[in-house]
This record gives sequence, structure tokens and C-alpha cells, in this order.
Amino acid sequence: MPATPRSDALIEEIRREFPRFELVPKAERRLQRAIDVALKIVTVGAQREYLTRYHTVLGDTLYLPTKWSSTPDEARFVTLRHERVHLRQKRRYGFALFALLYLLPILPIGLALGRARLEWEAYAETLRATAEVHGRQAARDPALHDYLVAQFTSGAYGWMWPFPSVIRRWIDETLREIERAPSP
Ligand SMILES: [Zn+2]
Repeated sequence: MPATPRSDALIEEIRREFPRFELVPKAERRLQRAIDVALKIVTVGAQREYLTRYHTVLGDTLYLPTKWSSTPDEARFVTLRHERVHLRQKRRYGFALFALLYLLPILPIGLALGRARLEWEAYAETLRATAEVHGRQAARDPALHDYLVAQFTSGAYGWMWPFPSVIRRWIDETLREIERAPSP
């Protein structure tokens, strides 16, 4: 097991804000395994990494994919910053409204603007945390931008907002905000 001081400190910080916060491996929970199967079906296999690669907040629990145990400290830190945004959204909207915004337009799948806006707020934090940990140059990496665009336009989240130019505009706005911020 690698030493993970930075992400461990952030977990403690999140616990002070959300005392019931806990981390649970997805594979240990039957419901999570069932969601994995359901997602493979509704996305016709486009989301087949739910159990292995994706992190999911439900309630005050962060469900961890199997790759977590081999994830380096910095990557854990960036992920936790993203997931903390979802915890705060749930507190802001309440669970019912949050779930409604996130899930309602699942049929037809695609054009899920509620989910896209909630995820963008969290992915903007992914960019900020990346700049913090790896430097602003890393936040400007086109490969990272392509990855972010794919989260919205692919089946990973059910084709939630299949308009790459919109996502790229959101990325540019966040990058400008990062550039304007005082150097760390
Ligand atoms: Zn998210």
C-alpha cells in the first residue's frame, strides 16, 4: 500500500464537514454490484467500468472502485475534491431534489442537463485540484480536456450532454478562473 498523506488529510477534512462520511469498496455491496449490471444494460455496455474505475457518492458514503487500492495519493486527492462537491450539492439541494436533478431525465438517456450541470460543478473542481497538485500546466493538458469532454458526451454517464463545444467552453471558463487566481 502506498503512503497517501495528502488524500488522508483531505478525508479527515471532509469528515469534519460531513461527520458521517465513509469510504466503502463498491464490490463489497450487493446494491453496487446490481447498479453495475443495470448500467451495463441501459448503456448497452458503454458504461462497463462502474465497479472498476468510477467513484460514486450515495448518501454520505463514497463507494470506491477496485482500482482505488492502487491509486496514487495525488489522484485520490483530486477525486476526493470532485466527490466533496457532490456531498455539498446533496446538502444544498437535499437528497430528494439532488436525486431528481441527477436522475430524472434518464429516459430518454442523453440531454440530462441537471446531471450535466451537477457533474460540471464537480469536474471544475477536478481541474482546480489538478492545478493545485500538479501545477497549472497540468490543468491545461489537452488529454485531460479530452477525457473531461468524453465524460459528458459518451455513455459513461449516459450521454448526459453530447455537445463537446459546450463542455470545452466550460473548461475554458474554469481555466481562465484558475489563471486569474493568485499563484499558490
Ligand atoms: Zn461526479
